[in-house]
Amino acid sequence: MARRRMVYEGKAKILYEGPEPGTLIQFFKDDTTAGNGEKHELVDGKGVLNNRLSEHFMTGLAGIGVPTHFIKRLNMREQLVRAVEMIPLEVVVRNVAAGSMSKRLGIEEGTALPRPIIEFYLKNDELGDPFVSEEHIIAFGWASQQDLDDMVSLALRVNDFMSGMMMGVGIKLVDFKIEIGRVFEGDFQRLIVADEISPDSCRLWDVETGQKLDKDVFRRELGDLSEAYTEVAKRLGVMPRQNGSTNGPKLVH
Ligand code: 5GP
Repeated sequence: MARRRMVYEGKAKILYEGPEPGTLIQFFKDDTTAGNGEKHELVDGKGVLNNRLSEHFMTGLAGIGVPTHFIKRLNMREQLVRAVEMIPLEVVVRNVAAGSMSKRLGIEEGTALPRPIIEFYLKNDELGDPFVSEEHIIAFGWASQQDLDDMVSLALRVNDFMSGMMMGVGIKLVDFKIEIGRVFEGDFQRLIVADEISPDSCRLWDVETGQKLDKDVFRRELGDLSEAYTEVAKRLGVMPRQNGSTNGPKLVH
């Protein structure tokens, strides 16, 4: 049997060459890391959950006209995506102060922000993904001014959509990270949402209890990560709620 070609292996995903030019297969691993890989564990089933959740979010975004790399889910752990030229930045949108922003600026976690705040981080593991300004981005050529404008607009649309979707199931979207890539269509280039959107890359707090339902459960050792992600998936209707036995006979109405 022919072995497929691996294009890239990251901490939580592997990219393989796709079946057609311009496509890739994105494989979701169970590997879970924090602190730039310092803390590493396998969380059974996490890859399956993130594959389904990222599909759910990307499909929803496409439905409101936000372009993404997602083409279709292939199986439990893999999805077919468009190959893009990645912009080497992480785009973070924050609605509520938490994480590195709280640390850096001394703002108490949970403080609502007056408006969504967008930040850029350079994707560079050796440097620990440092915070960068728009000035740095333009001066060092990581993206153009037009790209920046498009990235901000994409990030805000993703924020509006995701905040609404999560609020509908009793979850507050505190912040999230997306990655964006370029695709070329004839003489034009377009920016599209790439990588993944999942509880690995968002902060999700239960509206009623404040319970964390995202990767902070792993980073801060707050409990069972796969239970937290399963709860998000169940509320969104991505995984069926298991009331009692799933294998036994089911009532059909
Ligand atoms: P912070 O800057 O507070 O650590 O992270 C802000 C948001 O971006 C959080 O939702 C966090 O999960 C996400 N984020 C930031 N950097 C990364 C990263 O390297 N990988 C992933 N998966 N998410 C990140």
